[in-house]
Amino acid sequence: MSEEREQQKWNRRDFIKMAGLGAAAVASLSVSGCETEKGDRTSLMPKPGQMSYRTNKKGEKVSLLGFGMMRLPTVDHKALQRGSTAAIDQELVNSLVAEALEYGVNYFDTSPRYAQGQSEKVLGIALKPFPRDKYFIATKLSNFTESDWSREGSIAMYEQSFKDLQVEMIDYMLLHGIGMGDDAMKVFNTRYMDNGILDFLLEQREKGRIRNLGFSYHGDIAVFDHALAMGVDWDFVQIQLNYIDWKHAKEVNTRNSNAEYLYGELWKRKIPAVIMEPLLGGRLANMNGNRKALRILKEADPEATPAAWALRYAGHHEGVLTVLSGMTFREHLRENIATYSPHRPLNPAELDMLETVAQVMVGFKTIPCNTCQYCMPCPYGLDIPTIFEHYNRCVSEENYVENIHDARYQAARRAFLVGYDRSVPKLRQADHCTACGRCVPHCPQRIDIPTEMEKIDRFVDALKQEKTLEEKKA
Ligand code: SF4
Ligand code: SF4
Repeated sequence: MSEEREQQKWNRRDFIKMAGLGAAAVASLSVSGCETEKGDRTSLMPKPGQMSYRTNKKGEKVSLLGFGMMRLPTVDHKALQRGSTAAIDQELVNSLVAEALEYGVNYFDTSPRYAQGQSEKVLGIALKPFPRDKYFIATKLSNFTESDWSREGSIAMYEQSFKDLQVEMIDYMLLHGIGMGDDAMKVFNTRYMDNGILDFLLEQREKGRIRNLGFSYHGDIAVFDHALAMGVDWDFVQIQLNYIDWKHAKEVNTRNSNAEYLYGELWKRKIPAVIMEPLLGGRLANMNGNRKALRILKEADPEATPAAWALRYAGHHEGVLTVLSGMTFREHLRENIATYSPHRPLNPAELDMLETVAQVMVGFKTIPCNTCQYCMPCPYGLDIPTIFEHYNRCVSEENYVENIHDARYQAARRAFLVGYDRSVPKLRQADHCTACGRCVPHCPQRIDIPTEMEKIDRFVDALKQEKTLEEKKA
């Protein structure tokens, strides 16, 4: 079993340990691991045919669970981060996709940029054995870099998606990540308007090569509002929605917009919403180890995992067409299938409880990294998402203590430093950041990565010298 798979299994066990779940839940999770025989899991899984569906503008049924193909299982996770093109575990993806289809999942979301450019090809191979009318493929015009901004470059990327996915028609095509970048309106106009690409995509929809046209949104709200006001008949829009971002997106990241607003604008216009980041890059599955939040969830339902709560929240809203979840491991796929087979809407008390959990979570000042890896690889070798993941976990577990006179200082210091060296190899740690800034434009969460690296490095240095940050500055 690879190191990454092992790590994921431990994450689940960590939750069980921290939350003190009952024996039934422990048994259920352990037997739903990757190695389980089919005979065992039939007793745990719902029968196929119970998946909840929503309807799109054409009246077609879309599974509430959508399969996000941004993060894929790898045979060598570290090789993928280095930019290797041979690291995806195709066999496992084939098997996960087949199982998802068997249980009624029919929406698969990819991009030419996902999994270091391998996602579309891998998905195309995995879906090839199945009848074309059994699934919907969503992909994106991900012309992020200047070299792709020309009309020719963008059209070449679009045509390549058909080849890589091995299809004649794309069910859902998105303008990818509008609102990103410092001058987001200018970038939007350059990527899609000045080069005539939006008109081109509208023509392609007329011709039937694209069946539904939409966009995904991150960042500058002016671009979101502009896209909705420009008179295009959008078939769907993809937004980030979860029980933290509903009301607290701005508290987590001042550059983001509350999902309540985004969803409300779509609902008014009857535009179906496709949901990304229902688990906030996994933070609402492991809760960053936040014991208080875990306790509240456990008290509400000792058998439900945090991920199930978060998915139920995302699916709760009527205008949601499908909820995308990256399911790299079979236990995630099965758990998510079970959550939506069928979906159970939340009652008012449950909604209040999740709002309380959200408030607890935002009280801990973590970095809003969703581990999407868009910033990777760093030319100087930093493992950006893992550094942020470790930092966030320590903050949430109250192992981020600056005051050397605090009674917990020594234990927290040890936990931070030991955990840091264990999770991030020394040559990939924050002190190797040169502040070159190359990662910054790629981050959909608009994190000022070099500044955060500098802060983390300063903190680590202070811990090593057992000094307060102020003493270090002096
Ligand atoms: S700013 Fe730092 S983290 Fe970002 S690419 Fe440059 S060296 Fe890597
Ligand atoms: S820093 Fe930004 S781009 Fe990098 S993994 Fe985190 S959210 Fe993604």
